[in-house]
Amino acid sequence: MEEKFYLVRQYIDDNPGADIGEVSEANEVPIKQIERWIREERLSFTADSPIGIPCEWCGKTIKSGRYCSECADKLGNTLKNLYSSEEEAEHTKQKSKGNKMRYIEHEMGN
Ligand SMILES: [Zn+2]
Repeated sequence: MEEKFYLVRQYIDDNPGADIGEVSEANEVPIKQIERWIREERLSFTADSPIGIPCEWCGKTIKSGRYCSECADKLGNTLKNLYSSEEEAEHTKQKSKGNKMRYIEHEMGN
């Protein structure tokens, strides 16, 4: 997969206007894999690229990471208020990830 990653990155450099479906087909990489690289912030896009992934919290299109800047702020503040230590917040965030995903699927289903 690492080779594919470099292929994809090169392809995006050469074709900044390609959408995620085109990138997937041209490089024979599943869209899911491309999205994972975006979440890991290994791929980045110009502001006018059509490629984006939904914020895990509100669904707004973002270019990298997991949350839009608004939600990142909001979540950061919430965690800071709820937990006194950074370490504890990190631990709880990971533990609740599964619940959060189900919550979002539920929201989208309605
Ligand atoms: Zn958001």
